[in-house]
Amino acid sequence: MAATIRLRVVGSSPSVQRPGRACSCYLLRSRDAAVLMDLGSGALGNLHLAIDYPQLDAVVVSHMHADHFLDVIPLRYGLKYGPLLRDGRMPVWLPPGGSEMLRRIASAFAPEGPQDFLDEVFVVNEYDPALPLEINDLRLTFRRTRHYIDTYAIRAERGSSSVVYSADTAPCDDVVEHARNCSLFLCESTIGLGTEDGERGHLTAEEAGQMAARAETRRLILTHYSSTYAADELVEAAQSSYKGRVSIADDGVELSL
Ligand SMILES: [Zn+2]
Ligand SMILES: [Zn+2]
Repeated sequence: MAATIRLRVVGSSPSVQRPGRACSCYLLRSRDAAVLMDLGSGALGNLHLAIDYPQLDAVVVSHMHADHFLDVIPLRYGLKYGPLLRDGRMPVWLPPGGSEMLRRIASAFAPEGPQDFLDEVFVVNEYDPALPLEINDLRLTFRRTRHYIDTYAIRAERGSSSVVYSADTAPCDDVVEHARNCSLFLCESTIGLGTEDGERGHLTAEEAGQMAARAETRRLILTHYSSTYAADELVEAAQSSYKGRVSIADDGVELSL
């Protein structure tokens, strides 16, 4: 059977990029849709290798940390001045409260004002995390994670294929439920093999494996990891509790479901 969703890792770094690697950005493609989940700093350069950006049907942002949305700004310049232009404005879906924050950032340097700067090329929307978001033949649903600011894990489905992106989170029952039985769980492992005390908003690789095991996902891909640990060490740590297939996300990796 032909694949129904393709996932391309455009950027897999956490807030401090690994050498030569961009921050969070994932391209989902189905028969009728091309959707970006997050567009973190440095990701637009990699995006050119994946798709002509005017072909994107939407950009959907998990939360308003710089490593998840900041390259909306260079995308704005690309849509306004080229090299590639687009017929019609591009929908950008932000979490609740995100549009005010994006406008505040744009107002710091846009002489024409944040309204014109953004609205000329984008349709800036906020999704309602309680409702599904349909983008052509892809259906997206949201679930709040445990992070420092309001953050939403995203489940993208078409037919029997499903990708769940954890966004940034500490161990979280709601994210486990959201990932239940998915074809592919793209899960952060920011803390890697380390430890972090007190209130936190991220996972170790082992905890990512535990969440995948509890959610009974068919496959686990670790992402949002630093350069502190070797990739195979992270995979091994996740495998200590998850018996399914584990791999590591890296910029340019592409998978069909
Ligand atoms: Zn992050
Ligand atoms: Zn974050």
